[in-house]
Amino acid sequence: LPGPALFAPERRNSRGWDLAHGPHLARIEEARAAHRTTHVNAAPLIAGPVRAEPGRPRHSPSDPKDLVGWVQDASLRDVGTALAHARPWNIPETRCAEILRQAADLYEVHFGEIFALLAREAGKTLPDAVGELREAVDFLRYYASRIETLDAPARGIFVCISPWNFPLAIFTGQIAAALAAGNAVIAKPAEQTPLIAHLAVRLLHEAGVPPECLQLLPGDGQIGARLTSDPRVTGVAFTGSTETARLIQRAMAGTMAPGTPLIAETGGLNAMIVDSTALPEQAVRDVIASAFQSAGQRCSALRCLYVQEDIAPGFLEMLKGAMAELRVGDPWALSTDLGPLIDDEAHAAIAAYVAAARGQGRVIWEGAAPREGHFQAPVAIRVAGIEAIEREVFGPVLHVATFAGADLDRVIAAINATGYGLTFGLHSRIDDRVQHLADRLCVGNLYVNRNQIGAVVGSQPFGGEGLSGTGPKAGGPHYLPRFTERAAPEALST
Ligand code: NAD
Repeated sequence: LPGPALFAPERRNSRGWDLAHGPHLARIEEARAAHRTTHVNAAPLIAGPVRAEPGRPRHSPSDPKDLVGWVQDASLRDVGTALAHARPWNIPETRCAEILRQAADLYEVHFGEIFALLAREAGKTLPDAVGELREAVDFLRYYASRIETLDAPARGIFVCISPWNFPLAIFTGQIAAALAAGNAVIAKPAEQTPLIAHLAVRLLHEAGVPPECLQLLPGDGQIGARLTSDPRVTGVAFTGSTETARLIQRAMAGTMAPGTPLIAETGGLNAMIVDSTALPEQAVRDVIASAFQSAGQRCSALRCLYVQEDIAPGFLEMLKGAMAELRVGDPWALSTDLGPLIDDEAHAAIAAYVAAARGQGRVIWEGAAPREGHFQAPVAIRVAGIEAIEREVFGPVLHVATFAGADLDRVIAAINATGYGLTFGLHSRIDDRVQHLADRLCVGNLYVNRNQIGAVVGSQPFGGEGLSGTGPKAGGPHYLPRFTERAAPEALST
């Protein structure tokens, strides 16, 4: 079994990536390879009867020939069955904590299977997969440790809806919190990553969570829409795009009691400012990691870089040099920096966006990517400012603007005016400037003189402001209590 050391000290490579290298690497590789060609099937996991329906195939985003497995999506009838069978988790606190910790241990035991599925179904590189498993395990242990701080358990039905880009960590974090607060959970994973979700729920069941307390409904947005408009549901945890959060908010307002909690973590238009006092090499490394790790498919990823004009020419030359080193391709290869985009649709949308910028002569630098599979080369595109970006482009596309030193407040105002407030990065060695920006930016996560990715469960919680989320931050002390909130009883009866 991998000891805790597997997930302990990490190393960064020259691009600022976290690497899983170390004495355990050979063992990780061996375990992952053992599941390289296994077929994995998934179906709804509900406490009542499930009708056998035909499944849909899941192919790997990096290799269309790799059939990862089959998934049988839930029907609308299955949603009704799951709601009818859901039972809140009525169990002593200490036992609940024990079971969540047992699940964390099982996740670690099954690391080879998990890493293989993260690579094959979600296109994750090994460093990304290691980070993701570590975060999922941390969520389970952290929320287990916080149960005793709750005033009273909730005993309701929580719906947890998650995105594909952290198919294990975010999926597990939502479920662990809702269970720790005593709820029954109905989980609706992203349609792109049902197999990972299925494995996670099986491990949670094996750890001791009863089937009626944790049910899984794979499927698309229709299943989510049906769940979030059912008055039996007492709370919703959602992570995904701001557009979907708005639909859910509307659906809940139409059918659920006022005050029913919606915990939403959503998108971002994240910026970074590099001023003329920044250490250029460090700043370039951090820009690269912030914009391109996970092929830019992170909510926290840097979307718009502002470089002070005095240093811009030299800085952009260095940036192009660093971008030229990035390798795009097979997520199994340890030399790969960027894996694939999640699916055909995402790939086509980003390729069209880049083609339009290319047509307008705005591409500063574009790398190379394999033709087979959903690969997109990293791209830097010139823009006038964040105002020129109409929406979150969820891929390896970095927008670059320059600014005059005297215009710093205008840049801050433009960033705030987007209404999003997820992450922000600053490279400056002027203390007063750092303070000035920190005081004015409406942002959930501020990163100074480092890359703008990363959250650490229990010590560096993560969440956004404004259009980027409702709060409280995941992995922080205020998260769990929200899962015990209920609509007022009088509201329920009206
Ligand atoms: P998405 O909004 O398309 O889908 C998220 C989930 O919502 C999926 O499970 C989907 O099936 C479901 N869904 C779709 N329509 C629904 C509806 N009408 N009712 C209920 N559920 C519905 O997002 P995505 O493409 O899976 O993920 C990428 C987005 O997630 C990006 O915007 C990214 O910034 C955001 N994200 C945010 C965070 C954060 O912590 N703030 C973390 C990860 C991802």
